[in-house]
Amino acid sequence: MFKYLPYGHQWIDDKDIEQVIKVLESSWITQGPKVDEFERTLAEFVGARYVVVFNSGTASLHAACFAAGVKKGDEAITTPISFVATGNCVLYLGAKPVFADIKEDTYNINPEEIKKKVTSRTKVILPVDFAGHPVDLKEIHRIAKENNLLIIEDACHALGAEYKNEKIGSCKYSDMTVFSFHPVKQITTGEGGAVTTNNKDFYDRLILFRNHGITKNPARFIDKNEGPWYYEMQNLGFNYRITDFQCALGISQLKKLDKFIERRKEIVQMYNEAFEKMEEVIIPQEKPDVKSAWHLYVIRLKLDEIGKSRREIFEALRKENIGVQVHYIPVYYHPYYQKLGYQKGICPVAEKYYEEAITLPLFPKMKNSDVIRVINKVKKQVAYSRKKVFIRV
Ligand SMILES: *Cc1c(COP(=O)(O)O)cnc(C)c1O
Repeated sequence: MFKYLPYGHQWIDDKDIEQVIKVLESSWITQGPKVDEFERTLAEFVGARYVVVFNSGTASLHAACFAAGVKKGDEAITTPISFVATGNCVLYLGAKPVFADIKEDTYNINPEEIKKKVTSRTKVILPVDFAGHPVDLKEIHRIAKENNLLIIEDACHALGAEYKNEKIGSCKYSDMTVFSFHPVKQITTGEGGAVTTNNKDFYDRLILFRNHGITKNPARFIDKNEGPWYYEMQNLGFNYRITDFQCALGISQLKKLDKFIERRKEIVQMYNEAFEKMEEVIIPQEKPDVKSAWHLYVIRLKLDEIGKSRREIFEALRKENIGVQVHYIPVYYHPYYQKLGYQKGICPVAEKYYEEAITLPLFPKMKNSDVIRVINKVKKQVAYSRKKVFIRV
């Protein structure tokens, strides 16, 4: 049992540790055979032709935007309810993130709002599978085709999720899909990420970007091959390489992914059963044609019913060692974005959601007793509120 329950936490066992040690004792510790093996196993798991792994989800997003050809003057339509990295990767390339509002049911980007934001400068749509629930991929895909746009799906919450019986990452309805292996995500490599695609050109550009824009492949040289030492830097890339021992951890973790998600679902069911009849909260939804990977369990507080502020409830739960969080502050609220000229008020649904959302702990290592503890503390803070007591008096 956890004394302080964080909102997310990794699961590392002896098998994982054994695999990492094996690599540390070998002669390859940076990019070696485990990188290839991890890429192959991931590709097989999601059903995509190509996978390129990186040293973070953020690096993966940056690389995907580069591969898509995002550049100065371009616009990318994305959601404000995400981690800042989603918008930042567009800024890295000198382009402009354009925020489209979210839907009331899944808190995912609203396709109708995407349509309103398309201009002649739009290059990509960058939706996020928020909390592990896939976005309306088919509809977004249709909008992209109509307007000649690319889709980079930020699936950092959604490894193992399914959309219309396909694994997220198969790229049936996206050009590239991005994952993160940060410890709070479905599987971890410490830090790490991946891009999946079915497009060979994107794949080549992703590989180049990961290693300074350098190619050692003579077939791809622009200038004359001057000899066995020769390589070419053809683009301004980065060192976004992941280590072999991290990939060994990733391979070992991937074997447990189905079990991890199963356990997440059990916890979600316990929460749902406890909260669905409470009129003070709105529980998360799972649409009929998707399987969520349940990265986060977010409830929405009906603050008028409760008669307390979100902050009061949040602080009271933290005091009880329940590591609640808020996912997310709308990206354009941050001072950096405000300085760039984004106004508050541009996505009213997202802004209202932000006022009322609270994330409860959810990770496979939680015991049932942990879950029950959270349920009881939430009920105590939310259902037996000051207002109700006053009314009854
Ligand atoms: C975690 C996350 C990222 C960034 O991934 P890192 O591996 O932490 O760099 C990007 N987008 C979303 C939606 C995330 O949750």
